[in-house]
Amino acid sequence: MADGIAVVNSGSSSIKFSLYTLKEEGNIAYFFGGQVDGIGVAPRFVAKEADGKVMEEKEWSKTDDMVHGALLEYIFEWIRSNLQDITVCGVGHRVVHGGSLYNTPVRVTSEIIEQLETFTPLAPLHQPNNLTPIRAIAERLPELPQIACFDTAFHRTQPNVAQAFALPRSLTDEGVRRYGFHGLSYEYIARTVGDYASVEIAHGRVIVAHLGSGASMCAIKNGKSITSSMGFSALDGLPMGTRTGTLDAGVILYLLQAKKMSPSEIENLLYKQSGLLGVSGISNDMRVLLESDDSKAEEAIELFVYRINRELGSLMAALGGLDAFIFTAGIGENSPEIRQRICSAAAWAGIRYDDNANQSGSACISAAESPVSVWVIPTNEELMIATHTLELLET
Ligand code: ADP
Repeated sequence: MADGIAVVNSGSSSIKFSLYTLKEEGNIAYFFGGQVDGIGVAPRFVAKEADGKVMEEKEWSKTDDMVHGALLEYIFEWIRSNLQDITVCGVGHRVVHGGSLYNTPVRVTSEIIEQLETFTPLAPLHQPNNLTPIRAIAERLPELPQIACFDTAFHRTQPNVAQAFALPRSLTDEGVRRYGFHGLSYEYIARTVGDYASVEIAHGRVIVAHLGSGASMCAIKNGKSITSSMGFSALDGLPMGTRTGTLDAGVILYLLQAKKMSPSEIENLLYKQSGLLGVSGISNDMRVLLESDDSKAEEAIELFVYRINRELGSLMAALGGLDAFIFTAGIGENSPEIRQRICSAAAWAGIRYDDNANQSGSACISAAESPVSVWVIPTNEELMIATHTLELLET
C-alpha cells in the first residue's frame, strides 16, 4: 500500500491529471498522468506511465456528447480503476484566480468554494472550469482533502505600486488591479533555479519568460515576484497563441462604439482569434509558423519577439538590473530558434547566448562572457501543485 496525491488541472479545452506517490523519505514521485484535449470539438484521452509508455488512448466524436462533466467522470473512473494499491489522500487543483485574498494554497471547504465562485467575473473563461472538479469530488468524497493552488498567489508579494492601475480608487478597492498569472510555473522555477544556477543567482534578479500557448514574463527578486507582464486578466502582456496581449484600451472602445461589437464578440476576438493566430492568419502553433514561408507567419514571430524584448526592458527597470534570464514552457523549452531570436534582440541587456549550448539543449545557454546568465528550465506546474498539496496535508 502507498499513499498518493492526485492533481487536476481543468481548463476550457483540456483537462490534465496526474498521480504522485509519497515516498518514505518524504519525497513524491510521478506515477502516471494524462489529459483530455480537444474538448468541445473531438475529445481525445491519453494516459501514460512515468516512463512515457501509453496506458490508454481513446477518442470521441463530437456527436458522443462528451462534454466537460462527462469527461471528468470518465477521468475519475479511469484513475480509480488504475490506482492499484495506492490510496489517494488528497487532491490538488489548479485554480486560476485567488483574488487578493489568497496568497498561498488553501484547503477547500464549501465556504471557500463559494468565495472562489465570486472571482468568476475576474476570469470568466477559466474559473468555472477550475471549480467544476472540486465540486464534483466534494459531492462524491466529502472527506477527501482538496487543495486549491492559485495562479495568482505567487504574485501577491508584488508591491502595491506594481499591482495598481491609475484608475479611481473605488475601482481599485473593488478588485480592479493587476493580479498576475502563471504563478505556479514561476514558483516552481523560483524554487528550482538554485539546482541549476548559483545561490547568488537564485537570490538575485531574475526574469522568467513562460512562453507556452499562454505567455507571460515575471520579474523575480530573491525568489519573490515583484512584477509581471500579466495584470488584471490573462489577456495582458505578451501576444500569445490566440490572445492579444497588451492592447490600448481605446481599441475596446472603438470595437464597442464604431464596430458595434457585443461584449461576447469582443471576448472571443481578444481571447481566441488574436495573437499568433490573428497576425499570421495561419496558426496559433509556433512550430507551424516557424516552418511556414508565408511572410505573415514571419510577421507574427517578429511581433512576438519584439514585444518580449520590450517587456524585458520594463521588467528590468522594475528589478533595477538583471542577473539571469530563464526560458520555460512549450516554446521556451523547445524552440532554439525563438530563444536565439530573443537573445539576439536582448544583447542590449547584457544577454549573450552560446549557439552550441542553445542548439544542443543545455540548461545553461549563455556565453562564458555574458554578463547575464541565460537558462532553459522545464517548468512543472503539476509537481508544484502536488508539492503544495503534500505541504498542506502535512500541516
Ligand atoms: P500550455 O500553455 O497549453 O500549457 P505549452 O507550455 O505546452 O502550453 O506550450 C504549447 C505551445 O508550445 C504550442 O502551442 C507550440 O506553439 C509550442 N511549442 C511546442 N514545441 C515547440 C517547438 N519545438 N518549437 C516551437 N514551438 C513549440
